[in-house]
Amino acid sequence: MDLFEYQGKQYFARFGIPVSAGGVADAVDEAVAQAQRAGFPVVVKAQVQVGGRGKAGGIKLANTADEVRTHAQNILGMDIRGHVVKRLWIEHASDIKKEYYASFTLDRAAKKHLGMVSARGGIDIEQVAAEDPKAIARLQIDPVDGLTEANARELVDEAGLDQEARQGAADILVKLYRCFVEGDADLVEINPLILTPDGRVHALDAKVTLDDNAAFRHPEWDEFRGLQEMDPREKMAHEKGLQYVGLDGDVGIIANGAGLAMSTLDVVNQVGGKPANFLDIGGGASAAVMASALEVINGDEKVKSIFINIFGGITRGEEVANGIVEALGRVQLKSPIVIRLDGTNAAQGRAILKEHESDRLISRPTMLDAARQAVAMAHGDSQGERA
Ligand code: GDP
Ligand code: MN
Repeated sequence: MDLFEYQGKQYFARFGIPVSAGGVADAVDEAVAQAQRAGFPVVVKAQVQVGGRGKAGGIKLANTADEVRTHAQNILGMDIRGHVVKRLWIEHASDIKKEYYASFTLDRAAKKHLGMVSARGGIDIEQVAAEDPKAIARLQIDPVDGLTEANARELVDEAGLDQEARQGAADILVKLYRCFVEGDADLVEINPLILTPDGRVHALDAKVTLDDNAAFRHPEWDEFRGLQEMDPREKMAHEKGLQYVGLDGDVGIIANGAGLAMSTLDVVNQVGGKPANFLDIGGGASAAVMASALEVINGDEKVKSIFINIFGGITRGEEVANGIVEALGRVQLKSPIVIRLDGTNAAQGRAILKEHESDRLISRPTMLDAARQAVAMAHGDSQGERA
C-alpha cells in the first residue's frame, strides 16, 4: 500500500523524524483555514500518488490567504499524469539551504536492505542515478545486524553532505531505518531532505510503501486504507474476493493459480499482446466465481478480448466448462472469449464447451494458440488464427 505524502509524514512523525506542521484540506475554504493554523508562509501541496508534483504545478508557496485561495482553486481537480487531485496538504513553508535525498528499500537480489543517500536531492533520483551514479552513496544492510549510528554517519559522509547537516542527517537516517523495519515498509524515501539556513535537517517530502503482508500486525493501518485511490476495477474485484491487479492492455485474463496467471500474462506479451489485468480465480472455478471474474473484466472499458486459461487439478475440466457456460448465461459480455482448458478431465470439459462455441466463444488446445487467438481478436481480427 502506497501512502499519500501527508500520511507518510504522519508515519515518519511516529518515529521522531522531523516534518513540518500542517493539515489536510479537501476544499478551498478548508485550505485557507489550515494555512492560518500552520502560519504563513505556507506550501499548498497536491496529494496524489505520483512523483514530480512540483514540476506539474501541484506544489505552490503562498504568503497570504488570497494566494492560498488561488493555488487551492487551481490545484484541486488538477490532473497530474492521470491522478486527479482531491486533497491538499498545507504546511508551514520551510526555508531551504540545501536539498538532499535519503531512502531505504529492499535489495531483493542481495537479500539485504539498501540505504541510499545523496547530496543531490529535490530532483528525480532516477535521473541522478543515470547522469551521475557516483553522487548516490549506497549501503547494503544485513537485516539481522540493522543500521548503527556509525553506519548512518559513514553513509552521510560518503554522500558528501555539508558538514553542518551531517549529524542531523545521520540521526534522521537511524529513525528512518526504524520506520522502515518496525514500520514494516518496503520503501521509505525523503526527497528532499533539507538543510535549513539555521542548520536544521528536516523531511520536506515523504514516500512510504507499506508491506501489505505485514498488515495483520498493524491494525492502525486501517486509517490509511479508506483514503487510498484504488483502481475502480480493483475495488470491484476486491469486493468480490478476487485476486486482481489492473493493467493497461486490452486482453482480459482469467486464470486459476497465481503462477499460471503470471505465465498467461507472459505468453500474451510474447505474442505481441497487452494484458488488461492479472486475475487469479484460485483453486475452484465454480460458476459463481467465474461469473464474478467475467463481470469485473466486462467492466473494464479497454478490454477487447478475454483469455480464460484453466489448468484443471482438483477442479475437474467438466466443472470448469459448466461454470463458464453458466456464467455466460449470467453476464452479458462485450468481448469474445478464448478458452484454453487442460488438465484433469480436459476432454470432457472441451466437449461441453464445443456445444456452445461460436465466434464469441472459441476453444484452443494450447496456451500459445489461445494467446495468439485472443491477441488477434483484441487487434480487431475476428477470424484470428482460425484459418
Ligand atoms: P514532488 O515534486 O512531488 O517530489 O514534491 P516535493 O514535496 O518534493 O516538492 C517539490 C519541490 O518543491 C521541493 O523539492 C522544493 O524545492 C519545493 N518545496 C516544497 N516544500 C517547500 C517549502 O516548504 N519551502 C520551499 N522553499 N520550497 C518547497
Ligand atoms: Mn519530492
